[in-house]
Order: sequence, then structure tokens, then C-alpha cells
Amino acid sequence: MEKRELLYEGKAKKLYTTENPDQLIAEFKDDLTAFNAEKKGSEQGKGALNCQISDRLFRLLEANGIETHLVETLDQNHQLVKKVEIIPIEVVVRNIATGSLSKRLGIEDGKELPFVLVEFYLKDDDLNDPIICDDHCLLLDLVEDRGELEVLREKARKINDVLKDFFAKRRLNLVDFKVEFGKDQAGDILLSDEISPDSCRFWDMDTGEKMDKDRFRQNLGSVKVAYEEVLKRILEEKK
Ligand code: UDP
Repeated sequence: MEKRELLYEGKAKKLYTTENPDQLIAEFKDDLTAFNAEKKGSEQGKGALNCQISDRLFRLLEANGIETHLVETLDQNHQLVKKVEIIPIEVVVRNIATGSLSKRLGIEDGKELPFVLVEFYLKDDDLNDPIICDDHCLLLDLVEDRGELEVLREKARKINDVLKDFFAKRRLNLVDFKVEFGKDQAGDILLSDEISPDSCRFWDMDTGEKMDKDRFRQNLGSVKVAYEEVLKRILEEKK
């Protein structure tokens, strides 16, 4: 399968059409952005690492009953994916308070939450991705009905159950993450975009070291070295 026209370029990926109208090619870029692209950078090989990490995690989730847009990973930084219409909601799942949650609500950074928190943010850079409630989602026609919001929450929680356990076995604490969903031609809701250290927070269970994009956000050193370590642990065989 070959790339045809550039359909869309985002902060971390490019999307190309293919000869199959139902499939696109996603190219993972080396660019890094934070704070709504106010901070920009790049590390060679970052895109390839995210491509491999997301490939493994999406296949793990598929094996656990979560449908995804991934068809196959073609090479180091390209994936063949099903064409979907992205639901413009960033679904954030949190196990531990940090980042914007601590800032907004004054919850102590690092505090374990008494239950898994699922939040919705509007995917709109011009508005700075504001947090939104169910009624806002309906008001803006982001989904068809409340049932779809429940489906998003249910899928997000299931993804968390699978990933939290998977990473715990690899001595990484899954602090929080963001996922995006899309609808295919049949109207099925598929996990889309990517799951990688760009979109998750991982803390090393033994050292507390941050192994994710916070290294870039907070100038904590090489992103690539940490992402390589995350991939290495993902590839470890565990019972
Ligand atoms: N996140 C993301 N894209 C965004 C916003 C957040 O991937 O546009 C991820 C982020 O990496 C973290 C989680 O969602 O794993 C929660 O982020 P938070 O709301 O704390 O935002 P931040 O502190 O990055 O502003």
C-alpha cells in the first residue's frame, strides 16, 4: 500500500489517502509540541518509537476486545488505518492526580484517585481544548446521544483496565492518558489516533522517574531515551 495525497497534517502525524478509499496511511512525525504548540521541538526517531509503541498497545487492546482503527503497521513510522470520522472529544482517563487536574482543582500532585476519573475535552486548538460536560457534547452535536457518551466512557475505562495492569507488570505506573475515537462507515466506534508516551503519563514504579512527554514539557532530559525504555518494557514477555 502506498501513500497518495496528503489529507491532513497534525502536530504529531500526517495522514495520506491510499488506493483504498476506506483506508489511510498515518505517518508518525518526530515533532514534539506542548502547551497547545507554544513549545515546539523535535527528536529524531521519536515518531518511529511512538509508531511501534502504539502498534503494540493497539494490538494488545484488540486482543482484549477493544476495536481499533489499526489495520497493520507498515514500517518504522507508517501505519495503515481504517478511515474514520474522528469524534472531536479528547477522552482523558486518570488514575493519579497531576497536570491540569491538580492545577484546576487543587488536588495534590501524585495523589492516587479514589476511583478512575474520565473527562471530556473539546478537540479544538483555537479554544485551547476546554474541558466539557455531557450537555456541552450534545449542545455542540459532538455525539448523537447520551448513549454514545456512555460508550466512550465504557471503552475508556476498559482501555485503562487493560493498560494499567499491563504496565504495572512492567514496573510503570499509568498515571493518566488521552484517547480519541472515530466512527467507521458502519457507524462503529473505534479507538483511533495513537496511544504513546506523547499521550500518556508513565511514572517508573521504583524510581518515580517520568517516562513520557512531561520530560519535554518540563525540560527533564531526552524524550527518546525514555520512550526507548517504555518500548523495551512493552516488549518484555510477562505472564
Ligand atoms: N493529553 C494529550 N493531549 C492533549 C492534552 C492532554 O495527549 O491535548 C494527555 C496528557 O499527555 C496526559 C493526559 O492527557 O497524559 C492528561 O493531561 P492534562 O489534562 O493533565 O494536561 P496537561 O497537564 O498536559 O495540560
